[in-house]
Amino acid sequence: MSFEKFCPNCGKETEWLVKGKCADCFLKSNSIFSVKNVSDKILHCGRCSKVLLQGKWIARSEKAVANEIESRIKLIPDLQGAKIFVEAEKIGRQNGKEDFSVKVKVIGIIDSQVIEQEKGYIIELQGNICDPCMRLASDYREAIIQLRTNSKKDAETMLHETEELIKEENSKDPLSAIVKTIKVRNGFDLWIGSKKSAVKVSRKLAKLYDTRPTVSNKLIGQNKDGSDKYRFTFCVKKL
Ligand SMILES: [Zn+2]
Ligand SMILES: [Zn+2]
Repeated sequence: MSFEKFCPNCGKETEWLVKGKCADCFLKSNSIFSVKNVSDKILHCGRCSKVLLQGKWIARSEKAVANEIESRIKLIPDLQGAKIFVEAEKIGRQNGKEDFSVKVKVIGIIDSQVIEQEKGYIIELQGNICDPCMRLASDYREAIIQLRTNSKKDAETMLHETEELIKEENSKDPLSAIVKTIKVRNGFDLWIGSKKSAVKVSRKLAKLYDTRPTVSNKLIGQNKDGSDKYRFTFCVKKL
């Protein structure tokens, strides 16, 4: 024998009441979850397309945005055994800007009744420039790679190989980029954003040409801690 109850709000017969109302009426006037700062725009770098999430510039993706929103969800304390589902989808906009439509569904139990609530949000991106792109845009360079050879054809090949290697490093090191390519008589001078990547790449190149890179440095100022700041030049010769 079941004891039917009536919702005092809408009069509907229901087996369970949640906080004194039927589930539908409860959900009309209550939220079982909220998303913190959901109207905050996400900063987005117009040059490399990365987004700033939790203090880090990371690749822009639906997954990254979904994870971010999930991390901001707050459940009400009465909700038990909650399951959270978050789905983000890109919305193309004019002028290349892309926003995200995010759906959040939460299922849980209150007063022995299963409750499900879904809400939709538009997460807007705001154009910005990330720190590495800012530095690279202002001809920032920590190192120079000099490619030297007597053959014009070899010089082009060396340049191409270097570009590929620098690009490979970029996924780990955003400053790994060629800021400027200068044609000189016996090859090229390449301004490189990251010294670390210049070291790695010049070693790889030298190995490829069965030689050793020569390293020189030039004092260019001082670091914040007062120590000397150098710019390094790595020269790779192909004989
Ligand atoms: Zn009701
Ligand atoms: Zn960037």
